[in-house]
Amino acid sequence: MRYIEPHGHMVSRTTDDYLAMVTAGCEAVCEPAFWAGFDRSSADGFHDYFCQLTEHEPKRAAKFGLPHYAWLCINPKESEDLGLAADVMALIPDFIDQPNVLGIGEIGLNKNSRNELKVLERHIQIAAEYDQLILVHTPHLEDKHKGTRLIMDALKNESRIRPERCIIDHVEEHTIGMVLDEGFWAGMTLYPESKCSSSRAIDMLEQFGTNGIWMNSACDWGISRPLAVPHALLEMKQRGHPTDWIDKVAFQNPIQFMSQCSKFKVPA
Ligand SMILES: [Zn+2]
Repeated sequence: MRYIEPHGHMVSRTTDDYLAMVTAGCEAVCEPAFWAGFDRSSADGFHDYFCQLTEHEPKRAAKFGLPHYAWLCINPKESEDLGLAADVMALIPDFIDQPNVLGIGEIGLNKNSRNELKVLERHIQIAAEYDQLILVHTPHLEDKHKGTRLIMDALKNESRIRPERCIIDHVEEHTIGMVLDEGFWAGMTLYPESKCSSSRAIDMLEQFGTNGIWMNSACDWGISRPLAVPHALLEMKQRGHPTDWIDKVAFQNPIQFMSQCSKFKVPA
């Protein structure tokens, strides 16, 4: 089964993970900028991270024949320090024309704080100024519903942003409907232990249909599965879903969204 991994933090993964993904049918991987598991002490740390995302990781992926794409931002977890956030966002234009950069992400909110919201709004402006796609992280647990609402309002407040060019990730049963209803794309992140499981993700697809939705593993430095997507595809098969239904979710939909950026090359 072919698939695209639209959200994998590959700088944290091993070469064995790359090999396993390619063997399982992965045809492209996309890597949003995110938290490293610790707070970086200066914008220089982000400069090096952006070099890693745009120069070094694509070369590592290419050794396995896998096209690698990236998204740029400062993660909401590190957005409390407005001075640091401004310094990091000032770096983005230097990297935005790199051939593997698809847009701005994963931006969003973590604790729905005032400073996070300010940094989110500035990221949205940068995306509008440079006509970039947007990938959004939504908060977890009790902050999710309110955070998703705040994020969608911030996106809609910028008149140059079109919802069909934004994907709102980490949706769950209580947020997917509002995201799709307002014209945004929805991403379902599969987790091995907590949050959204593959069973819940497939239940949501059965309930909401397959338009405007993708699923991703979001594999990172924590407990996570780089093969979460192909495992979910197996489960779809076991439930009796036809091959074209599975292909739409795992392959065609990510292509449809990311092809809105001319740098994304549709896998042959
Ligand atoms: Zn992520």
